[in-house]
Amino acid sequence: MITLEEAQEILGAIPVKPVEEKESIQQALNRILAQDVESVIDMPPFDKSAMDGYAVNSEDNSKHFQIIEIISAGIIPVKKIKKGQCAKIMTGGAVPQGANRVVMREVTVEEDGYMRIVDEDPSRNICLRGEDVKAGDVVLKKGVRIRVPEIGVLASMGLSVLKVYRRPVVSILSTGSELVEPGNPLAMGQIYNSNSYSLAAQVSKMGAVIHPAGIVPDSIADIKATLKNVLKSSDLVMLSGGVSMGDFDYVPGILNDLGFTLHFEKVAIKPGKPTVFATRKQDVVFGIPGNPVSTFVVFEIFIKPFLYRMMGHDYKPEFIQVVLKTDIRRKRTTRTSFMPVRYAGGQAEPLPYHGSAHFHSLSKANGLICIPRGVTEILGGSRIDVRPIQ
Ligand code: AMP
Ligand code: MG
Repeated sequence: MITLEEAQEILGAIPVKPVEEKESIQQALNRILAQDVESVIDMPPFDKSAMDGYAVNSEDNSKHFQIIEIISAGIIPVKKIKKGQCAKIMTGGAVPQGANRVVMREVTVEEDGYMRIVDEDPSRNICLRGEDVKAGDVVLKKGVRIRVPEIGVLASMGLSVLKVYRRPVVSILSTGSELVEPGNPLAMGQIYNSNSYSLAAQVSKMGAVIHPAGIVPDSIADIKATLKNVLKSSDLVMLSGGVSMGDFDYVPGILNDLGFTLHFEKVAIKPGKPTVFATRKQDVVFGIPGNPVSTFVVFEIFIKPFLYRMMGHDYKPEFIQVVLKTDIRRKRTTRTSFMPVRYAGGQAEPLPYHGSAHFHSLSKANGLICIPRGVTEILGGSRIDVRPIQ
């Protein structure tokens, strides 16, 4: 059995080829940028007033300033400010020649075409040309995930169409003769297929395309036929269930029969031990143990980083350091364990967790903690890293 780190290394060494395509800015949220974005303009593009007020020269100590022009946002000032003069200017307006300060309206009085400063305003109130970004600066790098702030940046750079990486097609196939789709009645011995839906939700949050491939019973012929078919139109296939030691766990054998290389079939993690990773030329298959918590954890720690790499993004989970509230103890330490916790205000509390079928526990959790191999206890009061989950 290989370790978590060895499995991650194997996954990281598989070559992937993200494909570029064009996308409109309206459709770019959650996509991965496939180009560096250089600014073609200075931002702001001109010296711009940050306030509604009066543009003056800071050296000018006049008592009154004659208002020689009114500058609204979007117009070009035509007059130069001289001693004893000012221009009334609105926020976003271009600062006129001769002025280097905007006195905010709140500290002034205006009378008969003249402005008087009646209070202190120590600020310059001008956003200088190129203060945020200079023409030629790289503002966003290739590989960046486009979130809401990036959409704003892209638009402010004047881009309406950009290069992004194609969204991989991910097929989700649940194996198990006991499975029934939600919305149908449940007979004795049956359970609802939850993995297809939780996996689809995890994939969809990443911005990849989901192909639901439904449920197949534990039959070699059925799984093989469905898998063969699904592979034709997928960049990555996730098979849930059928990877453990039971008489009806056929997935590894089927992958072998279909000519796949099985890179690993067991990893020293808990939950998620019988995770299978197999490739055949461009085909990629993950076999995920059917227990719902295992499914969730295996996706988070193995599939998510791999799928992001296929999308051109180097995903690194963000860890939050918190203090553990109560002791955690375990007897066997041959595997790296993942446990659900609830964290808030810098403290994390382990949640009651009855093993990998206990999905309910995850719904109360907002983080996972990792207990490394060889570690029997983590004492309350220790600092630990939490991997946030949503
Ligand atoms: P398996 O990995 O096929 O041995 O399944 C392990 C456990 O997970 C069994 O209790 C299954 O009934 C359950 N399970 C398998 N597939 C699913 C699924 N798609 N949704 C919910 N539970 C499942
Ligand atoms: Mg099964």
